[in-house]
Amino acid sequence: MFDSLSERLDSVFKKIKGRGRLDEASIEEGLREVRLALLEADVNYKVVKDFTRKVKEKALGKEVLKSLTPGQQVVKIVHEELIELLGGKNVGLELKGKKPYIIMLVGLQGSGKTTSAAKLALFLRRKKFSPLLVPADVYRPAAIEQLQKLASEINIPSFGSSSNMKPVDIALQAREEAIEKGYDILILDTAGRLHIDEVLMNELVEIKQACSPQEILFVADAMTGQDAVNVASRFDELLDITGVILTKMEGDARGGAALSIKSVTGKPIKFIGVGEKLKDLEVFHPDRIASRILG
Ligand code: GDP
Repeated sequence: MFDSLSERLDSVFKKIKGRGRLDEASIEEGLREVRLALLEADVNYKVVKDFTRKVKEKALGKEVLKSLTPGQQVVKIVHEELIELLGGKNVGLELKGKKPYIIMLVGLQGSGKTTSAAKLALFLRRKKFSPLLVPADVYRPAAIEQLQKLASEINIPSFGSSSNMKPVDIALQAREEAIEKGYDILILDTAGRLHIDEVLMNELVEIKQACSPQEILFVADAMTGQDAVNVASRFDELLDITGVILTKMEGDARGGAALSIKSVTGKPIKFIGVGEKLKDLEVFHPDRIASRILG
């Protein structure tokens, strides 16, 4: 579907091969390709604009390295800047303070919260934690059962929530149970809506205040592109999220959403979902996504 950006740039820069310095006109020409490639990868246009300006500043006046063509050199700068924009390196979970730790997952309905909760539990058990999965979505029919079923598939305990309980009470009671039974980390799956609404947001704020989670991870569907960025900002404003899980990153998702969410909210992407199976969760590596965006 896409020519790789590297190839595209290379052909643009072929003309100026042999010149000792990258000049403004040729950089502009190359950056037009970069801009297109980023927009095709679904990067927010404001982010693209800022980004290409930065690359231009960096590229201008740079000596062309002997080992690289000017095209390759711009690709190199773009690659480095992309990694920077994506957060530099992986930021792991920040689990500090008193156990049991609490990780709260938030996001819109269908973003992959419930699945990610179970994936995360599996990931954490591999890291020698003893997780308790806590369904706190009391609105979507069968959401509680969905998480409990996933939990039993992977032999991880789940809290016996019921849909007539208040989510904040579920969280607090689950914490009590964790203390009693020796679970050291709670993963709270909260309700999502089709759109952000006041009631849902207040409820999330209430849970946050009641149990001070170590992590509030916003779960976003990479396929929804720009929409995910706006929603992420809104959740961040209200909840001061600590990170992002970007789901459905396998297949065609080129990672543009990742770039946009990170640069708009400033919050690190901590994990990506790469399939429907519970093992399909990966730690997020900015350099790998940068390579993917570049094609
Ligand atoms: P929730 O409403 O936010 O709890 O979303 P669910 O966890 O129920 O997920 C919605 C759909 O997305 C389900 O069909 C999941 O199997 C699917 N899903 C979740 N994460 C991924 C992923 O990383 N890749 C793919 N392909 N599908 C996913």
